[in-house]
Amino acid sequence: PSQETFTNTIIPRRKTRPVRVANVTVGGGFPVVVQSMINEDTLDVEASVDAIRRLHEIGCEIVRVTVPSLAHAKAVADIKQKLKATYQDVPLVADVHHNGMKIALEVAKHVDKVRINPGLYVFEKPNTNRTEYTQAEFDEIGDKIRQTLEPLVLSLRDQGKAMRIGVNHGSLAERMLFTYGDTPEGMVQSALEFIRICESLDFRNLVISLKASRVPVMIAAYRLMALRMDELGMDYPLHLGVTEAGDGEYGRIKSTAGIATLLADGIGDTIRVSLTEAPEKEIPVCYSILQALGLRKTMVEYVACPSCGRTLFNLEEVLHQVREATKHLTGLDIAVMGCIVNGPGEMADADYGYVGKQPGYISLYRGREEIKKVPESQGVEELINLIKADGRWVDP
Ligand code: SF4
Repeated sequence: PSQETFTNTIIPRRKTRPVRVANVTVGGGFPVVVQSMINEDTLDVEASVDAIRRLHEIGCEIVRVTVPSLAHAKAVADIKQKLKATYQDVPLVADVHHNGMKIALEVAKHVDKVRINPGLYVFEKPNTNRTEYTQAEFDEIGDKIRQTLEPLVLSLRDQGKAMRIGVNHGSLAERMLFTYGDTPEGMVQSALEFIRICESLDFRNLVISLKASRVPVMIAAYRLMALRMDELGMDYPLHLGVTEAGDGEYGRIKSTAGIATLLADGIGDTIRVSLTEAPEKEIPVCYSILQALGLRKTMVEYVACPSCGRTLFNLEEVLHQVREATKHLTGLDIAVMGCIVNGPGEMADADYGYVGKQPGYISLYRGREEIKKVPESQGVEELINLIKADGRWVDP
């Protein structure tokens, strides 16, 4: 690492090509895109439209739907149409979970991006005694994959749509497993094989993912992919995610550990947090990760001390009150600090500060400047008045 690695406080992002997914651009230096997936049955058009709308309204910029059959693929046409008629054109991705080309070709007409999983393009004949593939066998299967994939690639290319090559650690094809092992290298080679097929057909609207449920595997796979692409002169954007992260606090921490580590490396152009909870729960986690890393600012940044023996008021309670009163504002940093001993110096250049001054009194700050001392009972109200006086308030 260079000196710059340790002194740059703005994360430099890996340069990638812009890939359009309807009116959203992934990569190309655009803000990291937030996406999720509905869990409704795609055949239920009404419920799917409602779910897509709900997700989109809270900031999910690309929504994925699953398409396990031709009937589902046709239902996506109705979903798209209904969204346009009753809401707006939400960028949709179809997850095609096997190599049924008919399904993929049908749904490619209705969505903006198709996700395929290279591990499901399986042409190996079952042979339990096999332990390796000769180069000829390896290439022969590669040719079959190419022939199968070609119509979909051409369809997406000619329509100006996108494809995600979504490798999963848990579903690598057997010949990749035998040749490269159940490793990040196997995942990377699996993605590269599909990238090369697409490139040979002059199709480059590609986004790549290499998800795994084990965070260290996922981190290694994405890092290796970024390295290999750099070596090969490829600049495809990466879609980050930890699969099967679970639920609750640990699900969020596990997702964040994987996604944020890579984003901090400058790797990643779109993210999905996969929780075993309602998809709506995933969106705030995505935005919190991006905000914490300074990649997107979509909410108030609260700076608050952990409190200690010097704390002059109920910090937890006051932070809650301040948050409730100001959380609808965007672009502001607000600090709530327990005392003036360390508080003002540690507010991290917040726009406003609410700092314990003496028992029963707090001081309000604008940046590092102390504006006024007020009784604690009027603290939150006076903070709002100060923000209003500065013209930075909007009504909720
Ligand atoms: Fe304690 Fe003051 Fe630091 Fe808060 S700002 S942790 S109250 S010393």
